[in-house]
Amino acid sequence: MHIVDGSSQWRSDALTKVLFGPAGYPSEARGNVKRVFSILHEAGLDAFEYAAVHGLRTKERKAEEIGDFAKKFKISMSMHSAYYISLASKTPRIRETSKERLVKALRFAPLMRVKRVVFHPGFPGGLSEDEAHMVIRDALRDVWEVAGDSGGGAVLAPEIAGKLSAYGSVDQIIRLCQEVDGCIPTIDWAHLYARSQGEINDHDGYRKVLTHFEDELGELFISNMHFHISGITFTDKGEATHQPLGQEWGPDILPLIEVVRECGYKPTFISESTNPLQGALYAKFLFDELEKE
Ligand SMILES: [Zn+2]
Repeated sequence: MHIVDGSSQWRSDALTKVLFGPAGYPSEARGNVKRVFSILHEAGLDAFEYAAVHGLRTKERKAEEIGDFAKKFKISMSMHSAYYISLASKTPRIRETSKERLVKALRFAPLMRVKRVVFHPGFPGGLSEDEAHMVIRDALRDVWEVAGDSGGGAVLAPEIAGKLSAYGSVDQIIRLCQEVDGCIPTIDWAHLYARSQGEINDHDGYRKVLTHFEDELGELFISNMHFHISGITFTDKGEATHQPLGQEWGPDILPLIEVVRECGYKPTFISESTNPLQGALYAKFLFDELEKE
């Protein structure tokens, strides 16, 4: 087992400050890349998760353009890879294309200044929990061996799954990050709220989860904290649908932001709410209000 040292290339710029930003282009930008970044900049946001959720179709030139704007407006970049990645699929071809998608994402990362490649490992495909883990772990080791060096310091960031049937519990994600070089966790707090049937929703719950990640992953976690936030609805199977932040839907992110401040953590908060820009601004507003106290 090899745990990546947080003091090396893994340290990204996103370490000295808590960062906030949306997932995907704000609709206000109408697909105009420059407008995307100037909206983020004008709104006082400092992070952006590029949505390649239907596959990375961007040409290299466009990717470079995105990277140039990110640099100009000082926006910290991550990328969400395709939803249909399924590393433990029953179909060998899907396993292979899933790996290829992650390899491509790592190769594009330097062009776009992306430091974190977020993805869902997928479903266990009829395998036992342990078998699925080994298949997914080995697939990610392959990806890292092939493309880890070409990512320009970008890391793979497997995400906590919202559906209980998907691979991606807290302990599964921790184990992946312990056993595969170049992996950091993405904690999706809405997914975790859905998985826990609404239980992880207060100060104690958030602190317990964060302490667990910190105990297990240490500096690797502390130096690369990547969070997703959103409102969500759930059933006994987990995630149902994403909802706006700061309205009647949980989870309540105020206690999460309080814990982050108390512990001095410096996460990047990416809003995946139904209006991602509004969600990011809401979270930043809560944080800024607490800073004033
Ligand atoms: Zn997410």
